[in-house]
Amino acid sequence: MGDERVDAMEIDGQQRQEVAAAVPDGFNADYLRIYYGKLFPYVDFFKWLAYGNDAKHPGCDQSYIGRRELSFTLENDIYLRFQSFDSAAELETSIKEKCPFKIDIGPVYSIDPAKRHAYAQSGNNVFVPVERELIFDIDISDYDDVRYCCSGADTCLDCWPLMTIVIKILDTSLRGDFGFNHILWVYSGRRGVHCWVCDSRARKLSNEQRSAIADYFRVYKGGENSLKKVSLTGPVLHPFLARSYTDVLKCFFEDKLLHSQQLFASEERCQKILELIPDENVASELHDKWQGNRRSSISKEDVNATRWEQLKTTLQSGKHKTQGLRRCVEEIVFSYTYPRLDMEVSKHMNHLLKAPFCIHPKTGRVCVPIDPNNCEDFDPTAVPTLSQLLGELNAAGMQIDSENDLERTSLEKYIRFFRTSFLQPMLKACKEELEAFFFSERCLLPEFI
Ligand SMILES: [Zn+2]
Repeated sequence: MGDERVDAMEIDGQQRQEVAAAVPDGFNADYLRIYYGKLFPYVDFFKWLAYGNDAKHPGCDQSYIGRRELSFTLENDIYLRFQSFDSAAELETSIKEKCPFKIDIGPVYSIDPAKRHAYAQSGNNVFVPVERELIFDIDISDYDDVRYCCSGADTCLDCWPLMTIVIKILDTSLRGDFGFNHILWVYSGRRGVHCWVCDSRARKLSNEQRSAIADYFRVYKGGENSLKKVSLTGPVLHPFLARSYTDVLKCFFEDKLLHSQQLFASEERCQKILELIPDENVASELHDKWQGNRRSSISKEDVNATRWEQLKTTLQSGKHKTQGLRRCVEEIVFSYTYPRLDMEVSKHMNHLLKAPFCIHPKTGRVCVPIDPNNCEDFDPTAVPTLSQLLGELNAAGMQIDSENDLERTSLEKYIRFFRTSFLQPMLKACKEELEAFFFSERCLLPEFI
């Protein structure tokens, strides 16, 4: 039916703009079928998950990709867990046939997950996850207490920079502190970002090691009933936190968030910040000062900056330089800006995470990769939607089995980024590792000694 609809709108290239706008917004099986038929990057996707084990190299593990779980969510919330594929062609056939509304990626298991029952019956029950990317999942809905423009799953260009900050902080640390190189950031399609750390060292981490890394990033100890979300203890900040603060968080808070969210613009908002100050006398001193300048002539734009300066001056003045208050300014900045991770996702190998290049059913947007080096330029509202892509295909003139469909759409630049900035360098590293491993093994054979 979708094919018919699009075919009916097929007109010559002169009217591309009109046609592009002519595919009604939406998310449905008909639209998806065209997307999976013409645009989904099966080969790149498969090459990623094979990590070089699909090559002809004698050192590669031919069973590797077939032990990876993919999970499909079909229309009407029917879940198909433990799908596995031995080739890109097999993956493509299955996705085109089943037309999943969502694709999740699980771990690599000890055996082919699709055959787990057969192994169980043979009494040889060794069905356990053995590898999985180190993943991070960040939802902007976890920031509802510090953003006033949107709530829940909604996001706009005023609050989205909170996600940009997550990418900057985590990406820098994962590379600098942990030495990881192959990191993929993906827009979740609506409310946040996903991070896939794909180095072989990361994929082989145990659950305990994953927890340790997640804990390294843990500063935010939020809870419904706890007003104070962050506690920075010890005589000096951990170098990672100190660096995050001076290089990223402080500037972001003072130059952007303070104004975009109007953090001091109402009594209620001021109160929320005052509650983060452990000394009641200091808090009430500031409260009085702000009551005073409410009556003064400070303009609405200046009120945030003025009150923040007053808070800093008061907390950092000689008279309050006690241990408890020394960190208070930093704690406030961390409370409002530091990444809030869904820890459980990172700690366990067998957590499913939505695959890149899926389409979000609510927004119709593609889950595209984000370049961490230019993450401030990423605009979620400019990410192509399913209907937009179909419009672009249509404007270019739908041709059956056209080789160049992708190039005619705005998805092309995202796939090109995935391929050249993430996939190719990663596969090069995989190949080098396979070779190093192969030759080190070979050297142990008698003829090499
Ligand atoms: Zn917003």
